[in-house]
Amino acid sequence: MKYDVVVVGGRISGSIASLYASKQDINVLMIEKNQEIGTPVQCAGGVSQSFFKTLEMKPPQKLICSEIEGAVLHAPNGEKFITKNSMLQGYIMERKMLDKTLAIKSAEAGTEIMLKTQVKDLIIEKGQVKGVIVRHQGNLIEIPSKIVIGADGVESQIARMAGLHDGYNPHDLVSCAQYEMVGVDIHPELLEFHFGYNQAPGGYVWIFPKGENRANIGLGIRYGDNPAIYHLNKFVSSLKGKIVELNVGAVPISGPLKKTYSSGILLTGDAAGHVDPVTGGGMHLSAICSSLAGKIAADAVICENLSSSYLSRYEKEWKKRIGKNLQQSLKYRTIFDKLDDEELNGLIKFLNTNDFKSLSSLSILKLAREYPKLFRILKNIL
Ligand SMILES: Cc1cc2nc3c(=O)[nH]c(=O)nc-3n(C[C@H](O)[C@H](O)[C@H](O)COP(=O)(O)OP(=O)(O)OC[C@H]3O[C@@H](n4cnc5c(N)ncnc54)[C@H](O)[C@@H]3O)c2cc1C
Repeated sequence: MKYDVVVVGGRISGSIASLYASKQDINVLMIEKNQEIGTPVQCAGGVSQSFFKTLEMKPPQKLICSEIEGAVLHAPNGEKFITKNSMLQGYIMERKMLDKTLAIKSAEAGTEIMLKTQVKDLIIEKGQVKGVIVRHQGNLIEIPSKIVIGADGVESQIARMAGLHDGYNPHDLVSCAQYEMVGVDIHPELLEFHFGYNQAPGGYVWIFPKGENRANIGLGIRYGDNPAIYHLNKFVSSLKGKIVELNVGAVPISGPLKKTYSSGILLTGDAAGHVDPVTGGGMHLSAICSSLAGKIAADAVICENLSSSYLSRYEKEWKKRIGKNLQQSLKYRTIFDKLDDEELNGLIKFLNTNDFKSLSSLSILKLAREYPKLFRILKNIL
């Protein structure tokens, strides 16, 4: 076995990277440690319309559970703010099938897929990554390749083995738990977010509709003595409905890794920290970065330049596309971290009583008097 590009991880980032690498005439292998693509699910399935535009494909109708028109924000004191901002418009997808659909597209484009195969180590010679060592059906096998793409998620071992990351500190990770529930009373076309320290310390609760009376209901936390599932059980205890699936997972929210390439290797998706630090969403960023990773890896193979300096164009490209937004989002997250429940109540009240397009100096003065800390924080955003 010998490949031009080996992609480690077979979910969304791996499938997109291998698809874009296979669009060119090279040999691509995608390796996934699980026996099935897309499971277990670690996602609420919320994706923007631009996800599909980036991938130049139509949203697969069968996989759309609901079309989203806006969101309801719930303050800790129960006050609601409803918005139909166009930025929120998108879909709730059946995520496990979306990953599989992208893997199928990739296989159809030429990618070979090895399942139930775990990458145990990188082959590195004189600082150049030259392939992977896998455990497959009980045997250790060396698979040489010109480029390795690490798309192995938040706990990326590939990033560690390549010396590009040595792990997150606990506050940089959001610990999540989610139930898919049926028979629940929801807004079928609106996302719902609940904020408050008691409900989700350092994070938020989400309700993502999957059609009439069906939803992914989950939360992420960063602080406190109790695990995410404890807070989730507390939240759903007041809801009518039945649980049909449980998903757990962690989301990195400290922004991208300092370096996402080296000689013979690229990192993408959660493995590279390509996740929005405010929302925790990674799918759209993965569409942008993983397609670039696949394309640039194939270019490097074709022009026989696997050096770190050639591959640095990957990082330049993704930074050009999303670098500024990620930096801004990181700044907003640090700002939101400082808001306590009182200020969150003030923020929702402020949103309810003001139209941003016609903010008067009187309303801003009122806010400054009532919530001075919130005012100082918002001054940095507006
Ligand atoms: C509860 C939850 C809800 C979320 N909701 C949303 C949402 O609504 N919208 C959104 O945009 N984002 C959401 N996210 C974030 C989003 O799911 C991730 O950003 C995205 O799944 C990252 O995809 P990935 O392919 O990079 O990594 P992963 O999905 O983690 O895939 C990595 C793959 O690599 C495989 N792997 C790992 N190590 C090895 C190895 N050594 N050898 C072989 N294979 C290996 C794993 O088995 C896995 O299949 C959510 C996350 C969580 C936890």
